[in-house]
Amino acid sequence: MARILVIEDEPDLQDLLRYNLQKDGHLVTVAGTGNDGLYELRRQPFDLVLLDLMLPDRDGLEVCRIIRADEALQAVPIIMVTAKGEESDIVVGLGLGADDYITKPFRIKELLARVRVRVSRHLDAMRDAERKRIQVGDLVIDPVRHRVLIEGQVVPLTLTEFKLLHFLASHPGIAYGRYDLLDRIGDGESVVTDRTIDVHIRNLRKKLGKYDKLVETVRGVGYRFSEMA
Ligand code: CA
Repeated sequence: MARILVIEDEPDLQDLLRYNLQKDGHLVTVAGTGNDGLYELRRQPFDLVLLDLMLPDRDGLEVCRIIRADEALQAVPIIMVTAKGEESDIVVGLGLGADDYITKPFRIKELLARVRVRVSRHLDAMRDAERKRIQVGDLVIDPVRHRVLIEGQVVPLTLTEFKLLHFLASHPGIAYGRYDLLDRIGDGESVVTDRTIDVHIRNLRKKLGKYDKLVETVRGVGYRFSEMA
């Protein structure tokens, strides 16, 4: 299941896209303006953006440029939705880093197929990132052995603490909400609520000692891994 942000101002298209993407198994958020779209993107992570180019405030190309220039957002795949006869916009958009485009009027089946391709590539890339060993200074996060070392010494983390740290560290600079983290690390066995995430993070920070600032609190959002600490 992927999280998809639809940035589109036409209500009929919003409904059509929401309905069909949901039916295809995705979680859909709709934003009616470029600014609302950017707001949603900064609030929670998405696996794909469907970006209309003709928007009432910022044009879609500008939104695309802002996303690609923002370190925390730039990995998200973008499919542009353009009107017929906007070939020059398509060229510019692909040059700005959009991954694909589809021209209105489109067949919904074709759109869903393209979304599926982009989403599955993106999720594969995310999983690859999560399999890699992560090192910051003399802190090592080893996903194969499920352990964390500081100066060569094993840090005794619980499985939940390890999963939290490893997930955040695999996506540095990106803020994740508590429910989002629950969703990503949940093993379906232990009952974890959004408040217990705070407790796990507090314990994790204590165990990280001099590296406690790697896990940052992002006010109003949740937590993020910062390599700057
Ligand atoms: Ca439009």
